[in-house]
Amino acid sequence: MSRTALSVAEIVACGLCIGCGLCESVTEQRVTMATTEAGSLRPTPLDGFSEHEEATILASCPGTTSSPRSDLDVPVDPVWGRFTEMTYAWAGNPDVRFEAATGGVLTALGMHLVDSGQAAFVLHVGADPDAPMRSRWVISETSDSVRANAGSWYGPTAPLAGLGAALDRGEPFAIIAKPCDLGAVHAYSKADARVNELVVARLTMVCGGQSRFEKSTDVIDDLGVSETEVSLFRYRGYGNPGPTRVETHDGRSFELTYNEMWDDEAGWKTESRCTVCTDALGEAADVAAADAWPGGGPTGEDEGFNGIQVRSHAGTALVESAVKAGALVVGDPITAREYDGLQPHQVRKKEALSARFAGLTQAGHPVIATEGLRVDELGQRLSDDERAREIAGIVRRVEAGRYSS
Ligand SMILES: Cc1cc2nc3c(=O)[nH]c(=O)nc-3n(C[C@H](O)[C@H](O)[C@H](O)COP(=O)(O)OP(=O)(O)OC[C@H]3O[C@@H](n4cnc5c(N)ncnc54)[C@H](O)[C@@H]3O)c2cc1C
Ligand code: SF4
Ligand code: SF4
Repeated sequence: MSRTALSVAEIVACGLCIGCGLCESVTEQRVTMATTEAGSLRPTPLDGFSEHEEATILASCPGTTSSPRSDLDVPVDPVWGRFTEMTYAWAGNPDVRFEAATGGVLTALGMHLVDSGQAAFVLHVGADPDAPMRSRWVISETSDSVRANAGSWYGPTAPLAGLGAALDRGEPFAIIAKPCDLGAVHAYSKADARVNELVVARLTMVCGGQSRFEKSTDVIDDLGVSETEVSLFRYRGYGNPGPTRVETHDGRSFELTYNEMWDDEAGWKTESRCTVCTDALGEAADVAAADAWPGGGPTGEDEGFNGIQVRSHAGTALVESAVKAGALVVGDPITAREYDGLQPHQVRKKEALSARFAGLTQAGHPVIATEGLRVDELGQRLSDDERAREIAGIVRRVEAGRYSS
């Protein structure tokens, strides 16, 4: 019989914590996010919660629960969930489009929300100025600040460590965060009514997985650079996908192509929560933005094209207002089946999830509740052999200690 975790300590011990930071907000910083030896962000100390705080976290944590958030009259696709439209899109400002991770949609929407007064600020993430290889949550009150924090962080981020501070301001705001983070925000809204009152837009990226910090240190180790020497670590952007760029305080700079950075999957150091990701496509967002490379990977540089999924009526209104203001350009529509071809790895992962959960259950581990995410329906697409292979693979990973903190 499958079950969910019974404590935050069990979520962490079983590899289901993604380090979103909600623990820090709920405990008003008594429990903080600390980097583990393997380079993940985890709540510390694990026995620092009151009974009420722990119950709140168990009801909201991406390691226990995940569900879509959308207007129920929006049609649902088995793979992509509810969406009002899917299209190509990119930032109206060519410099934003160039600097951003893909086509700058998330940055353009964030800037537009602030410039138009719809949001007083955006809660998102950016480089820690004191340790530029590491991220921190950021409150951007100006569109310049939203723009300065453009780009994808493939390493650990804890945007929800800033959720409490953002809510305490009592002003309308937008959040840009990973799909799992927004799932937590949606679940947490049941415990804190301010979420639905104040969060005017929830924006996300389609997500292939978060790497532990080790992935970034592997890069600088290969370059012969130490973390204290680094003044800039940019995973991508300044092109699409753009190079991974490292700069040092003494003026050296290094670049790796996207394929040099990501060709060897064994070196990704992906978090275990990501291997059983319940919603990498952002079904708790108003708008999700993705890469849009045929076959799922880049064959060279281009001007920057996002594919977007607009998931709610609020998302539709936001996109329309951004297009009207010139902040966003919308291109051709993309059908759900065309999108499958742009993200084949995401389709495979969704189809495998039910078997992977069966493997976790067989190994005595907790799973994640996924009401509304069509996990069993998609799981039926696997043949008996494929299902058996997925289950055995997960059991092996558990036995090898790969579902641990
Ligand atoms: C870990 C990770 C894995 C990804 N895997 C895939 C994939 O498999 N397939 C795919 O199509 N796309 C993937 N993406 C998405 C892609 O890299 C772009 O983020 C997306 O296309 C949006 O591009 P953009 O130009 O609109 O973003 P930008 O305009 O550059 O804006 C990015 C915004 O997101 C915020 N942000 C960036 N990284 C994080 C983070 N880790 N946590 C919280 N907030 C963050 C930034 O603060 C910024 O506001 C991934 C992104 C991440 C972070
Ligand atoms: S995923 Fe977030 S809410 Fe869950 S244990 Fe980790 S930090 Fe806390
Ligand atoms: S793959 Fe899923 S769990 Fe991992 S960071 Fe992305 S959205 Fe979160």
